[in-house]
Parts: sequence; structure tokens; C-alpha cells
Amino acid sequence: MNYKVAVVGAGPGGAVLARELAARGIDVTIYEKSIYGELGHDWSDAVEFGALKEAGLEMPVLEGRQWKGSLVKTAPDGGGIFEKHAVPILRIYSPGKKTYREIEFKMITTDRRRLAQELVRQAGRAGAKIKYLHEGRGLLYREKGRADLEGVEVYGVVVRDLENEEDIEIRADLVVESSGFSAVLRGSLPGYSGLAEPFQDSDFALVHREVRPYRPELEDGAIGEGGMARLIPDHYRYGYQSGYQWTHIHNEERIDVGAGVKRDSKSEDPRDIIEAFIAEHPAIKAPMIRGGRSLCIVGRPLSNFVAPGFLVLGDAASTSVPTTGCGVGSAIYAALGAAEVVCEAALENRNDLRKLWDVNKKFYLESDRGPSLAALSELRIVLQTLSSNEIDLLFEKGLLDAATLQQAINGHFSPLPAAGKARALLAGFSVPGILVKLNRAVTSAAKIYDHYLEYPSSWDAGAFTKWESRARSLQMKGRD
Ligand SMILES: Cc1cc2nc3c(=O)[nH]c(=O)nc-3n(C[C@H](O)[C@H](O)[C@H](O)COP(=O)(O)OP(=O)(O)OC[C@H]3O[C@@H](n4cnc5c(N)ncnc54)[C@H](O)[C@@H]3O)c2cc1C
Repeated sequence: MNYKVAVVGAGPGGAVLARELAARGIDVTIYEKSIYGELGHDWSDAVEFGALKEAGLEMPVLEGRQWKGSLVKTAPDGGGIFEKHAVPILRIYSPGKKTYREIEFKMITTDRRRLAQELVRQAGRAGAKIKYLHEGRGLLYREKGRADLEGVEVYGVVVRDLENEEDIEIRADLVVESSGFSAVLRGSLPGYSGLAEPFQDSDFALVHREVRPYRPELEDGAIGEGGMARLIPDHYRYGYQSGYQWTHIHNEERIDVGAGVKRDSKSEDPRDIIEAFIAEHPAIKAPMIRGGRSLCIVGRPLSNFVAPGFLVLGDAASTSVPTTGCGVGSAIYAALGAAEVVCEAALENRNDLRKLWDVNKKFYLESDRGPSLAALSELRIVLQTLSSNEIDLLFEKGLLDAATLQQAINGHFSPLPAAGKARALLAGFSVPGILVKLNRAVTSAAKIYDHYLEYPSSWDAGAFTKWESRARSLQMKGRD
């Protein structure tokens, strides 16, 4: 096919899209600023099992608390993508650890470096070209004299060859931004496109995680903080310090310990949070093996992912689950959906807005993901204004029950049960301000969810402007 696609960024979004396009005969090149050996992160993450399966990986099966399959690591540093220990049930502690719920956890602990490398290898095998040490710097576009999304047409990208220190202009029918939350390309578009707006500090969490040696035999089982036994179950301590803290066991010898907080100078450093946790647990005191820290996007997804000749995917479009920061699953689902649209566009030799709009349609109208992420984003903002004590209260009163937490942590939102529950509780006892606040947020999240079900099914400038302004006003109401 005489249709050329330039993908910027070889994360899970970019690699899966490139693989799918190349497999259907489209000329696709990935430009990645890093090198193969440094793709992904040097730790293991909880990644949506369903998304990895959709992406075609040979997924393991559960045997007791262990995964069995060809991609499961046989030794801590051996080959494989998935850690051996499974977490089918995750314990969710209240911030003060006074109580907990148990939820079905639909994730698998995945070595991010190995996953990134495997997906890029698959893209290469399918025929995608990969240029490492090539950094996307800005878009090539022409303006067409109207101040809306149709007023620009992207026809290429400026890429810096980092070895030769040279800028190259790459022409393409479609440029895909999958460069993660730095989102450098869309920022180069004119403001009226609606795609140039940078993320705000409040769209980020700061996350620190470490893989450490795990020696459970050193735990004494004594009673620790809040009366909990000092064992280390796989858990999240949800709502702690405006974020959450967790452990996930990898295998008999290793455990992942981490924490994420609101990006704010007033927040405690997540590293100090996990240091405090480690200090309580002899089993995990030995020095860290690998790990790191970074910002993590937890904001509202972009309300539009496309412009003529241009598409944004994954963290660059803020599609992570706002209540956890897990974004690999969304990036993969978005890439698979976009691949179908781009293949059709290539067959018809089109890159116009009307055609590419189907990417939005898939995310917002044909799947529960888009509306859920938008609604969860509202809940996240309100939950982060609450103190640990207030969130403890929500656990106690049953507002943060297992069903609600299971949905939020797995990236889903159900408007009716959430709104109904908040109302029922409000009617039941004298109302502390915190419940009023939460009720307003839940009601607004439910309205936002419903509003996304009315997302414009085809590109229409007037209809989209109207839809977007209503979406913004619902968001403002929930935060008052
Ligand atoms: C500390 C931390 C913990 C996380 N934990 C989880 C978790 O447990 N589960 C989960 O699902 N998600 C987790 N995430 C989020 C997850 O990493 C992202 O949501 C996911 O990787 C997004 O995929 P992506 O393809 O959009 O972008 P990325 O994976 O960010 O990939 C972007 C790629 O683009 C490259 N790039 C960047 N700028 C340019 C440029 N200008 N030119 C060329 N290349 C460029 C980068 O080098 C990178 O390879 C975590 C993130 C962090 C930081």
C-alpha cells in the first residue's frame, strides 16, 4: 500500500499499532529516542491481563497462586515476561489500615522492559522499520484558514537523529504520537486545534517503586500498625497520602514495594513512604535490586485523539486509569482500535478528520473504557482532596466497599450503583461534609459517564463544540 505512517515512541501503544499496520502491508516506521536495551521500565508492573491477551501474547494460566506458561519467568532473572506469583485477589487497606476489602484483581505482574522489547520485536517481524535514537521534535502541518480542528493538516514530523545531531523532515500520510506523557508533538499544533494544551501538574502522580529481595521467613508475624498482622500480603493501601502504597510479590525471592502520591510540593516523597513500610518488615530490608521513580499520568483522557493526518495514543492522550495510574492496558486497546481505523483509511487513501474520527468513536462509544476513565478522573480529583482519616471513614461507612474499589482499581465505573449508593448513605445518618463532597463528585462522575455515551459519532464541528463545553461544565460542577 502506498500509505506511509510515522509512529513516534515505541511504548506499548506505538509498538502494537506499528505491528498491526505493518502486518496489513502499510509502510510504517517507528522513531524512538531511546535504544532497544532501555525500552520500558526497569521494574515489573501490574498490567491488564485482558489487554495483553488481546494484543496476542501467549498468556499463562493460573495454577493456585502461580502463573504457568511459556512467557512466565522460570527464575527471577531468567527469560520470560511475567512474574511467577499471581495476584487473583488483592487486599485493599484503608489508609489507617483499620480495615480492608478483598477484590478480584484483573492484572498480571509484567516485566516492563521485557514486554517493551517483545512488542517491538513483534512490530519488526511484521515489517515495521524502527529507528532508535531518533527523537520527534515537532509536527509539519499546514493551516487552512479556519480556526478549528479541520483548520490544520499534518503532513509529517521533524525528527532529530541524536547520533548525528541532525534534524530530518519526515513526510507521512499519518503521524502517530505515542511518546508517552511528554506529548511533545501535539503541543506544536495551534491552540485552536484543541490538541495543544499541555498537561497540568494536577494530571500527574509521582510514583516510586523498588524490586527488593523477599525473605518471608524473617517476618515474625507480630501485630503491627492498626492491629494488622505483620505479614505482607499483596495489597494496596488506598488513599494513603493522597495516593496509594502497595506490595506485589514476584516470586519466592522478590517483592515489589511502591507508592504514588499527588504531584504537589506538599506531598510526602513516595520513597519515604516505602522506606517507612520497609522499616516495619524484616523480610524486605535487603537493598533494592532494581526500580525507579517517575511521574505517572492520572488525568482526564483527551476528548479527541485525532486531527487531519494525526493521531495521539496512550499516555500522550492521558488514557491511564486515573485511580491507579495503570496505562499499558489502555494504550494497547487504543492501539488495536486505531489500527482498524487506520487500515481502512489506508485502503481508501484517506487521512481526513471524518475518517480518523472513528478512533474517537471506538474509544468513547464502542467501549466502556473512555466513559469510565473520564468518570474515574472526576472521582480521583475529589478523593485526593480527602485526608487519610476521611478516607478511613468512607471505608468504615461502606462507601468504599469491595464492589466500588474493584471497579475503580480495574478501570471501570458504573454510574447507577455509585450514585444510588451515595444517596442511600446520605439518607441514613447525620451527614458529615465529606459525604456531601463525595456525593457531589459521584453524581457528577455519573453524569459525565452518561454524557460520554452521547459523544458525537461522526465529526461535526458544531456538535463537538457543544458536547465538549457540556463535558467541561459537568467537570467544574463536580469540583465546586
Ligand atoms: C512509576 C510508574 C509506574 C507505573 N505502573 C504501571 C502499572 O503498574 N501498570 C500499568 O499498566 N501502567 C503503569 N504505568 C503507566 C505506564 O507506564 C504507561 O501508561 C504506559 O507505558 C503508556 O504507554 P505509551 O505507549 O503511551 O507510552 P510509553 O510507555 O511512555 O512509551 C513512550 C515511548 O516514547 C519514547 N519517546 C518519548 N518522547 C519521545 C520523542 N520525543 N521522540 C521519540 N520517542 C519518544 C519513550 O522513550 C518511550 O519509549 C506506570 C508508570 C510509571 C511512571
